[in-house]
Amino acid sequence: MSLTTVRVALRVRPFNEKELKETHQSGNLITFVPGQPQQISIDQDRRHFTFDYVFPPYKSQADVYQSCIQPLFDQFVNGYNATILAYGQTGSGKTYSMGTSTTATSIATSAMEHVGIVPRFADNLFSWIECQKKQHNNNALYGVKVSFLELYNEDIIDLLNSTNRNACITIRENTNGHISWSGVHEEYIQGSADLLSCLSRGSIARTTASTDMNASSSRSHAIFSVSLIQNISLTVDNEEKIAKTLESKFHFVDLAGSERLKKTNAVGDRAKEGISINSGLLALGNVISALGDESKRQQQHIPYRNSKLTRLLQDSLGGNSQTLMLACVSPADSNANETLSTLKYANRAK
Ligand code: ADP
Ligand code: MG
Repeated sequence: MSLTTVRVALRVRPFNEKELKETHQSGNLITFVPGQPQQISIDQDRRHFTFDYVFPPYKSQADVYQSCIQPLFDQFVNGYNATILAYGQTGSGKTYSMGTSTTATSIATSAMEHVGIVPRFADNLFSWIECQKKQHNNNALYGVKVSFLELYNEDIIDLLNSTNRNACITIRENTNGHISWSGVHEEYIQGSADLLSCLSRGSIARTTASTDMNASSSRSHAIFSVSLIQNISLTVDNEEKIAKTLESKFHFVDLAGSERLKKTNAVGDRAKEGISINSGLLALGNVISALGDESKRQQQHIPYRNSKLTRLLQDSLGGNSQTLMLACVSPADSNANETLSTLKYANRAK
């Protein structure tokens, strides 16, 4: 397994209508360096940044999937955990890229080209399973289950648990570092359509819960998780024996808006919110930069325990897991400060 456990992709979304109308727009806040597909420069402080992948605005959802998600998928079906973290200010394209607010109707009505990562992953997974079954003459059993959590302050909301969204969820670590979440509603699914229906049920629950709690997607993190269980059996003396069981998890994390990282001087509830979300994103940044620091990694000084976010994802960040940070930015001059802060945050991950 490669030593770089965290890869970073930068995606610059197209201008939106409002940005196009702004007269001071020069349209060259971000420059793509010719002949250097992994580099960008930002005119504000004439800095160059290099990432593992760079997606200019014309790159499609399919391009993003093909180049940086497919390799994670290939590892996932081989038994490795994977995590994608969508990071960026509100409105930068996190949810669009991830495809987590997708509903069956939105897929039916929107053009295929707009379909995001999770629905593409669902098709990818179930076609793979079909293909495996044919190849192995049904001698393997596959189980797929999903869960959908929202993290608001340090509270965990179970979006798929229709009877008790605030069920008591505990995070346990066993002796070999495996993290299990108890009390989380997990749903076994049979196909891509089931996966999408869980996704849309959770997204609807998320919006309803937000009005209750005065929250919105910009203030909370959403974690959609898919587990794959593979029981590969052998026939020995006419008896079917399980030869090995592989279980791997894939987390799709739509993080709170990064502008929350510094809004700490508000009062009352807002202040609590600001500070707490600040701590989730801060803790994540610290974990990710520690993972990139070989001496810290060897001494196992990775500060997972500083937030629920990093604790929930502990065994899927670092180690043998594949982690991709998808940093999303706006191309507009008016967002230059937020864009620069996203680039800096993402740069720590290398
Ligand atoms: P965030 O989740 O980061 O707050 P969204 O994903 O909701 O942002 O994106 C904000 C708006 O921009 C949405 O209307 C979305 O459809 C649009 N958008 C974002 N990225 C792209 C893109 N690459 N191509 C086309 N539209 C996009
Ligand atoms: Mg969003």
